[in-house]
Amino acid sequence: MDFQLSPQHEIFRRTVAEFVEKQVMPRVPEMEARGEWDAALFKRMGELGYFGLRYPEKYGGAGADSVMFAIFLEEMARGYMSLAAAAMMQCLMGTNFIFRFGTEAQRERLLAPAIRGEKIGTIAMTEPGAGSDLGAITTRAVREGDGYILDGTKTWITSATRADFFTVAAKTNPDPKAGFRGIDMFLVEKGTPGLAVSKKIPKVGVVASETSEITLKQVRVPAENLFGGKEGFGFAALREMLNEIRVMTGALGLGLARAARDESMQYAQQRVAFGRKIGEFQAIQHKFADMETEIELSRLMVYYGAWLIDQKLPCNKEAAIAKLYATEAAVKAADEATRIFGAYGMAMEMTPQRFFRDARFLLYGGGTSEILRNIIAKEMGM
Ligand SMILES: Cc1cc2nc3c(=O)[nH]c(=O)nc-3n(C[C@H](O)[C@H](O)[C@H](O)COP(=O)(O)OP(=O)(O)OC[C@H]3O[C@@H](n4cnc5c(N)ncnc54)[C@H](O)[C@@H]3O)c2cc1C
Repeated sequence: MDFQLSPQHEIFRRTVAEFVEKQVMPRVPEMEARGEWDAALFKRMGELGYFGLRYPEKYGGAGADSVMFAIFLEEMARGYMSLAAAAMMQCLMGTNFIFRFGTEAQRERLLAPAIRGEKIGTIAMTEPGAGSDLGAITTRAVREGDGYILDGTKTWITSATRADFFTVAAKTNPDPKAGFRGIDMFLVEKGTPGLAVSKKIPKVGVVASETSEITLKQVRVPAENLFGGKEGFGFAALREMLNEIRVMTGALGLGLARAARDESMQYAQQRVAFGRKIGEFQAIQHKFADMETEIELSRLMVYYGAWLIDQKLPCNKEAAIAKLYATEAAVKAADEATRIFGAYGMAMEMTPQRFFRDARFLLYGGGTSEILRNIIAKEMGM
């Protein structure tokens, strides 16, 4: 293990932190109340180059490494998880298939504007009957002439109401024995006849990162919209991306845990009970000691995972550990923050309740904690 953050990484962290503190945090109450992130702010993030961090300059990106991308997500999540969630979708799952497996024309038409923040991309894999068990999806893609016809329902799709294009998982081979190998990924653009956002899903956390159900009824796409250009390619491509999704979700967890620690430390240094600041009670100090321990361990695992990705080294186990540890640490830190705030931990006008709600979001995408434990055990040879 031989990694450390460079001065460039630290300078970048300060730049993002300043953007978050000056331009994001003051707008959080308004976005929470409206239940949607601010379009102008999103566009601004594109202009600042944040959506293109992990893409080459040719498409308007920065060609930065995964460590830099993790720093961006950590700082964003420290400020506002709803916007960080939408940004991660835009930078990674929503655009990566076009970048890696799309045609040059698709990259110019969709990826480059998405990097600028002018178009929005998302991924549609989950279905009402299939989440962790992606091999059980029932959305079908049937070859017809020079294209494919897609039919099915997808749910929990981030930014669906605002998306210009979707990467949709569908079965080209419905044989149950094919399982994951029967899945392919397709580009479906907004406005394609038969594609509709059928309902928004009200939820407890990340309320300003909208999630919806979408339906595909006889949606026709040209054959070039099959990513990879051949059937049976999709799941292998998705699997390659999973480690990055896991490490980066861990980075979101790290950011949220830091925010929960910082807010509650400030509170503990002011709130008085029994004639003392509550931060002077050993029971409260132990909560901070535990938070700090878990934050430091999360940081090590997340940046080690990002470094492994940059070195193109195998990291199935490390990426699963990074996500498992950092997201569970975030859930715990948010919970402890609400306890330290006492009754005010439940007050909607205070921030701990938002950390508590938003932390839940980290537990699902990229593998639930149960699935991650399955992966870690498998990697251990069990
Ligand atoms: C805010 C939010 C945004 C999302 N955005 C998107 C999006 O943009 N696109 C998209 O495609 N999806 C999205 N999702 C869906 C997400 O990817 C799924 O929630 C996730 O894959 C888990 O699937 P599920 O919710 O159906 O749970 P299930 O798979 O039904 O799991 C239910 C429970 O069973 C456990 N379980 C399942 N299988 C096993 C097993 N083998 N061993 C042990 N335990 C098991 C799980 O851990 C969990 O506790 C989003 C979800 C949320 C909450």
